[in-house]
Amino acid sequence: MIYNLDMSNTQKNDLLEKVTALAKRRGIIYPNSEIYGGIGGFYDYGPVGVEMKNNLKKYWWKEMVDTREDVVGIDGTIITHPKVWEASGHIENFSDEVIECKKCHQRFRLDDIPDGKCPNCGSKEFTEPRSYNILFETEVGVLEDAKTKVYLRGEACQTIYLDFKNVLDSTRMQIPFGIAQIGKAFRNEVTPGRLTFRSREFEQWDMQFFVHPDDMEKWFEYWKEKRMNFYKNLYRKQENLRLKQHPKDKLAFYAKDAYDIEYKTPWGWAENEGIHWRGDYDLTQHSKFSGKDLSYTDPRSGEKYIPWIVETSGGVDRTLLMLLFDAYEEEDLGDGKSRTVLKVHPDIAGYKAAIFPLVSNKEEIVKKAREIFELLSENIKVVWDDRGNIGKRYRYQDEIGTPHCITVDYETLENDTVTVRDRDTMEQERVKIEDLDEYLS
Ligand code: ATP
Repeated sequence: MIYNLDMSNTQKNDLLEKVTALAKRRGIIYPNSEIYGGIGGFYDYGPVGVEMKNNLKKYWWKEMVDTREDVVGIDGTIITHPKVWEASGHIENFSDEVIECKKCHQRFRLDDIPDGKCPNCGSKEFTEPRSYNILFETEVGVLEDAKTKVYLRGEACQTIYLDFKNVLDSTRMQIPFGIAQIGKAFRNEVTPGRLTFRSREFEQWDMQFFVHPDDMEKWFEYWKEKRMNFYKNLYRKQENLRLKQHPKDKLAFYAKDAYDIEYKTPWGWAENEGIHWRGDYDLTQHSKFSGKDLSYTDPRSGEKYIPWIVETSGGVDRTLLMLLFDAYEEEDLGDGKSRTVLKVHPDIAGYKAAIFPLVSNKEEIVKKAREIFELLSENIKVVWDDRGNIGKRYRYQDEIGTPHCITVDYETLENDTVTVRDRDTMEQERVKIEDLDEYLS
């Protein structure tokens, strides 16, 4: 059953509701197939959301690939050879324990019921847990007798292991080095919900760092700190961020250690990204199942070994959602006035600046504003708005987190200056058009 399993129906809370409403109202996130009543666990990004998501991915790529000489990227497929998922253990182990409330018949993941009480009706009576594999299946091939069962990848990182040897053979990389990828993953989640927090189709940003076993400890520590700093720079509210070690009894069977970077959501601490000690598990498994040697020979010492892996694996959609929680503010402006503002990191904001011609019926002003739009849009993403009064335009841009609003007015025609208004302080400054580029950067 894919409908009516959305946890947001039963576990509503204020900030989540507000962010969900704002995301829809302002073109950040829409429920998928809404005109057909929606489909649980699938979301689309609107005109503002797609810009934010692209910026977020660029921000990660810059940090993880562009500015490092020891990490390269790939872009793997969603469907792979089906044996991949046997080797990885997903066919056997990628399951959620599901229980059903005997009173209201809602189903839940066992992990989501820490206090033994049904989140929907409060009953304490459940059916026995049942294992439920969350890989999505489909078929490749058209003729009935030539169809092969395949899976949509349940985690993006597997394609990195598949390409490990190709990367080694086709680049100049030497251990230690990493392979990074941003891409879709699919999980037939039992309880999708809380907007994009747990969806059935989502994107992951993953990096697998291949090391000599003797250096594992050092690199594990390095990536824990590095990834934590990434999120510290991204979020405003540092007190909502923490690094949490997995209890030893909850570790995946192949893992020696694992940490979650958690963000404090409106419903409590939740995983944002995992830093995993995967050891030689993945390359050993794929060597075994494929019959291909995935070991590495050190070009200097001649030593041959299966590299060990430190994984950093986070969710793009989940980070964007947490950013919305982090950025959302309702401010009292006095005199019974208030505003909603998204104080999101300027690098992630969908538009860096909005261009307003003060009036839309004065040709010289509109023309000047268009010139500024064209000039700035060569380097940054800007948006045009000539609808309604300036106050309303400011409110709209505040709600989508645009850091600056530029108004072209009568004075512009006299001295080539514009008003630039800052999203966070709401202060306005007169800036020369020729200085705008520098001012905004
Ligand atoms: P959770 O139990 O919190 O759903 P997980 O421990 O199964 O997540 P991993 O397999 O470690 O998650 O995946 C790495 C990252 O991918 C997570 O930290 C999260 O940001 C993201 N992610 C995982 N599942 C989902 C999902 N269903 N929807 C959105 N993002 C997800």
